[in-house]
Amino acid sequence: MSKMLVIGCGGVASVAIQKCCQNHETFTELCIASRTVSKCDALKAKLEGQGTPVKITTATVNADDVEDIKRVITAFQPDLVLNVALPYQDLTIMDACLACGVDYVDTANYEPENTDDPAWRAAYEKRCKEEGFTAYFDYSWQWAYAKRFEEAGLTAILGSGFDPGVTSVFTAYALKHYFDEIHTIDILDCNGGDHGYPFATNFNPEINLREVSANGSYWENGHWVETKPMEIKREYDFPQVGKKDMYLLHHEEIESLAKNVPGVRRIRFFMTFGQSYLTHMKCLENVGMLSTSPINFEGHEIVPIQFLKALLPDPASLGPRTVGKTNIGCIFQGVKDGKERTIYIYNVCDHQACYRELGSQAISYTTGVPAMIGAALVANGTWRKPGVFNLEQMDPDPFMEMLNRYGLPWVVDEAPATVE
Ligand code: NDP
Repeated sequence: MSKMLVIGCGGVASVAIQKCCQNHETFTELCIASRTVSKCDALKAKLEGQGTPVKITTATVNADDVEDIKRVITAFQPDLVLNVALPYQDLTIMDACLACGVDYVDTANYEPENTDDPAWRAAYEKRCKEEGFTAYFDYSWQWAYAKRFEEAGLTAILGSGFDPGVTSVFTAYALKHYFDEIHTIDILDCNGGDHGYPFATNFNPEINLREVSANGSYWENGHWVETKPMEIKREYDFPQVGKKDMYLLHHEEIESLAKNVPGVRRIRFFMTFGQSYLTHMKCLENVGMLSTSPINFEGHEIVPIQFLKALLPDPASLGPRTVGKTNIGCIFQGVKDGKERTIYIYNVCDHQACYRELGSQAISYTTGVPAMIGAALVANGTWRKPGVFNLEQMDPDPFMEMLNRYGLPWVVDEAPATVE
């Protein structure tokens, strides 16, 4: 019996909100608040047309503005806020949650919109030097809220998507049921889907392109090892998808898993990309279209990557055209009762099946379902405890059970092929 404010109404939000309506024992009232309220109204109309028992309202919010978020929270009085806007808004939404005394859940760690901001740059450069990785996003900003959430008796759950999110829960589950100690973790994110466009991104283009055009990195023996973008390539034969090229990327869960998995020696993250995607991205990068620094164009200030976003297909529109499957999971190596062991936990998700069920492609689906589950476990008290947490710090069993129930069944392979 919970009231939840959902901030953002894009691809991920649409799935998370529809899944909340399937879980109406937990979520009795939802307020969908976003920048473009017409999208919230359209989703509300769709769900009401299907006869949802959940009471849905909508609101306009500028989630860059703490006062405006507080206004919406004060009017609606939710028990918790699910942030499925952009990583740029994480801190403002956390501030508003603290001010209003409500719990917080998100799917991606904080990243600044303006990477030229001098105050942010100074902190970033210090972190690059101290930690040894150069990604624009890291957990330090949100972990810094731990004491305030603890003192306020509030829960903040960070990164309740698929990766991070389900991959973090898979790790906690492996540690709880299969290992005394995990030594290596390879997170493999394969999208075998085809949308038929020469170039499009499966989620927010700005966030996606910033992530994949950055340096790669992995965690080994207590420190970060950085690589050039796409420098490390492997091939893997993914169950139900087939052989794909995959590339090592920096990814946010490596940072929290390195901290939270005792004795882990190496953590890597690989994502599959086709050659056409990589060629387009390199070309766009070479001509400056991935830049986040504003330029003056005929008297207007424009940010190249935001202009590119306006040209590319809306990720939410890929659903009807995308065929094929995703396979995302983790290969763990370690020891149990003194014996070496390797297991692979993964989920396979079919783009067309997602579209038939909710009108979304699998990337939004695989993120939106765990966003609902993380929020539900906080809402019903199972995961409620004061502080700021990553998902691997929570009991994985109820989350794993809900993955099976809400459309993301998983498999444990006890004799998988490993990645060299
Ligand atoms: P979209 O771009 O589709 O949706 C973002 C939504 O946030 C839009 O509705 C947008 O409004 C709204 N929004 C943006 N800025 C503001 C603002 N200042 N105030 C209010 N609303 C705002 O993104 P996705 O749905 O693809 O992604 C959502 C989140 O999920 C992102 O943080 C992304 O990084 C994360 N993600 C996490 C994954 C994981 O596995 N952990 C995987 C994929 C995504 P408008 O409609 O006006 O543009």
